[in-house]
Amino acid sequence: MKLTFLGTGTSMGVPVAGGFGANRLSSDPRNIRTRCSAWVQSGSASLLIDVGPEFRIQSIRSRIKRIDGVLITHEHMDHVSGLDDLRSYNYVQKNNLPVYTSASCIKSIRSRFDYLFGANKYAGSTSLDLLEISEEVTFKDLKITPLPCNHGDLEILGFRINNLSYLTDVKKIPPDTKKLIKGSKVIVLSGLRWEPDHPTHLTIPEAVDIINELEISRGFLIHMNSFVDHEASNHKLPGHIQLAFDQQVINID
Ligand SMILES: [Zn+2]
Ligand SMILES: [Zn+2]
Repeated sequence: MKLTFLGTGTSMGVPVAGGFGANRLSSDPRNIRTRCSAWVQSGSASLLIDVGPEFRIQSIRSRIKRIDGVLITHEHMDHVSGLDDLRSYNYVQKNNLPVYTSASCIKSIRSRFDYLFGANKYAGSTSLDLLEISEEVTFKDLKITPLPCNHGDLEILGFRINNLSYLTDVKKIPPDTKKLIKGSKVIVLSGLRWEPDHPTHLTIPEAVDIINELEISRGFLIHMNSFVDHEASNHKLPGHIQLAFDQQVINID
């Protein structure tokens, strides 16, 4: 199984619109972060996790030619606003794309993109099938388990896909979810910044503590903001946990 980090930045991206504070970080291209999204490829499946505002650019630069399904962690715009751009895949593949997420997120997507669904569906618009995922499902050759976790007051989903656990925008992981993550070979977890604490996001040190507590041997951090320098942070981090960067590809057994 292969994971491509399509984007690794926080909700505003790095640098932010207007380029404010852009010279805070070095010119290392790994300090340019589009909004968080990932692409999982297995023997028979091509799966997206989240579809943000830069999806069109991400799909072209990573040459995503087919999508079998989409997993959505939660309804914030940095994770769903690219859903409309899945239209080109409808045209080429001639099918509706299945989108798996929580019941509450389905409600939110339906109201946000009302022109795509039901009686309001606009002719020629993107065709998505919104499907609730509340327990383990088999999707082609993948086993997908939803991982409920807390993003401040919002209950959102991470996903375990075979030996990969992917969680973004997390502040707390409940004990039952930790049990579902245990035994993963790779974890992807959000770490907003080194400090200070944030009410709805883990800091990098908090994310490191969780990965160590779960005894997962390989960790990648995502959803970093414009104060987090790639190279300097990776020097500070333990070797088995590193910041991910846009277009990085990893293999998972
Ligand atoms: Zn986010
Ligand atoms: Zn969020």
